[in-house]
Amino acid sequence: MGSEHKRSPETIAAQGLHAVDPATGAVVPPLHPATTFARGGDYELLGAHFYSRYGSPTVDQAERAIAALEGGIEAQLFGSGLAAFTALVESVPEGAAVVAPRTMYFGGQDWLRRLDARGRIRLALFDETDDAALEAACAEARPELVCIETPANPTWSITDIAAAAETAHRHGARLAVDSTGAPPPTTRPLELGADIVFHSATKYLNGHSDVTAGVLVAREDGERWQEIRQVRMLTGALLGPFEAWLLLRGLRTLYVRFARQSETAMALATALLDHPKVERVLYPGLDSHPRHSVARRQMTGGFGGMLSILVAGGAAEGRAVAAATELFVPATSLGGVESLIEHRRSIESPQSAVADNLIRLSVGLEAVDDLLADLRQALERI
Ligand SMILES: *Cc1c(COP(=O)(O)O)cnc(C)c1O
Repeated sequence: MGSEHKRSPETIAAQGLHAVDPATGAVVPPLHPATTFARGGDYELLGAHFYSRYGSPTVDQAERAIAALEGGIEAQLFGSGLAAFTALVESVPEGAAVVAPRTMYFGGQDWLRRLDARGRIRLALFDETDDAALEAACAEARPELVCIETPANPTWSITDIAAAAETAHRHGARLAVDSTGAPPPTTRPLELGADIVFHSATKYLNGHSDVTAGVLVAREDGERWQEIRQVRMLTGALLGPFEAWLLLRGLRTLYVRFARQSETAMALATALLDHPKVERVLYPGLDSHPRHSVARRQMTGGFGGMLSILVAGGAAEGRAVAAATELFVPATSLGGVESLIEHRRSIESPQSAVADNLIRLSVGLEAVDDLLADLRQALERI
C-alpha cells in the first residue's frame, strides 16, 4: 500500500488504531490503569500524562480511534452518554438558549428541562417532523446550541443534518448531533456540517452491553470545546481505562456488526409490514418512512438495527408482546449483539409523548429467521 493511500475508517476500526503496540509487539492495545505519571530530573513530565482525571493513555487511544472514525479533530470520552451530554450543555453561557427536538432520548431532554426550570438555560423544543419548525424555533429563541437526534429514539424520525447545520449556523448557533443510532459506518455528521457529534458509546460503538460510556467529537477546536474539556476534568467525568479498553475491543467489529444488524432489521421491518397485529412499522429503511429519501442520503451504510412497531391495541397489548418473546430479551438499551425488546412508554418519564402501543426493538446478531419466528409467536398471543 503506497503512502498516498488514505485508510478507510473501517480499517482503522479493525486495527484499533495501531495494529501493533510499539513497546511490546502485542497485537492488542495495552491497558494502562495508572492514576499518576512520573516526572524526571528537571521535574518535567516523562510522558504526555499527568493525573488520571485529566486523561490517560488507554482513554487517549480510544478517543483517537473514535475521532478518526468520525473525521473529527478530537474526541472526549465520558463515564456515560449523559455525562457527555451534560458537559456539552454546561459549555453554553448562563441564560443562553438551547433548541432541541420534541422527540429525543428522554434522559437528555429531562436534563434540559431541569436546567430551563432553574433559569440556567432557556429551552425551546421544536417538532422534528415539521420541515419549517427548526427555522422558526431558531428565529425566535436565538440559540447558542441546537441539538438534533437522528434517527430519533424511539420513533426513528429522521432529521436532515446538512439542512439543520445550515439553519443553526445562519442563526449563529452550533449544531450538535446525537448520532447514537447512526454510528460512523453509516453517518458522519461532521462531514455534513455538524460542529459536535455525540454518542452514547454504551450502544453501537461498544456493542456488547458491557460498558457505560459517552463521547463527544468536535469538528474544530475552540473556546467551547476547551470549556467542555474543563467541565470534564473538574467534574471528574472521564471514562475509566478498563472501559476505554473494552470500548477499543468493541470498535474493532463495529462495521461488521452494524452492517449485519441493519440487514436483519430491514428484513424484519419488511416482513412485519403486513402482519395483522401490527398497525405500523417505524423504520427509516422503509419506503413508507416520511423521510426515507433523507435517510437514504445521509445513512450511507445501512439504516441501523433499531425499529419500533405499533401493535394493534394499547398499553396492555404492547406490554404483552414485550413479555411474550423468547429470544428478544425484554430489557432497555440498544446496539448490543443480543436482540432486545421494550415497551417504551413504561420506562420513560411522565412527560413522555411515546405511543402506548409502541414496542421498540434492538436487533442483534441472531439468525433473522429465528428473530422473525419469535416476533410472530409473540404477536399471535395478543
Ligand atoms: C442511551 C442513549 C443516551 C444516553 O446514554 P447513556 O450512555 O445511557 O448515558 C443518549 N442518547 C441516545 C439516543 C441513547 O440511546
